[in-house]
Amino acid sequence: MKERKCCDCEEIFERRKSVKKINGDWLCRACYISRRKNRRKETIKEARKLEKPIIRKPKQEPTKAKDFPKIKGSKKTKKDKNYSYITIQEKQNLLRMLMSRGMDFDDAKERIKDLVEEQKRVKECMKERGKTEKQIKVKQMEMIEELWDL
Ligand SMILES: [Zn+2]
Repeated sequence: MKERKCCDCEEIFERRKSVKKINGDWLCRACYISRRKNRRKETIKEARKLEKPIIRKPKQEPTKAKDFPKIKGSKKTKKDKNYSYITIQEKQNLLRMLMSRGMDFDDAKERIKDLVEEQKRVKECMKERGKTEKQIKVKQMEMIEELWDL
């Protein structure tokens, strides 16, 4: 059995079970946990940054579910290399929807950009874990729905 070295603390482990492979790095349990904690902190910080600029218009009718744009999803074409599940047209619809709920243009754009990035990351991650194209699409749809949780 080859020795494994933790990428963060550089401790050497003789048993493969003692280290985990995360994003191509071998990590011991302690370093894995601390990385996860840091990642969570960043996520919370990012989320706060996103939430902050949202200004709700007073007395605005809540958007009804039926008013949400239908997401058909992009077909896989040679042109479509961005791994995202939504088309440019759909992105524009989402943008309009977010703005109609009181978000300003830049924030709405940023939020959609984050969604696309996150969809791309999730897709690659799920592919790696052997998930089917269908399972990936379901997950991506759920992520779009989370956009409305303002
Ligand atoms: Zn370590």
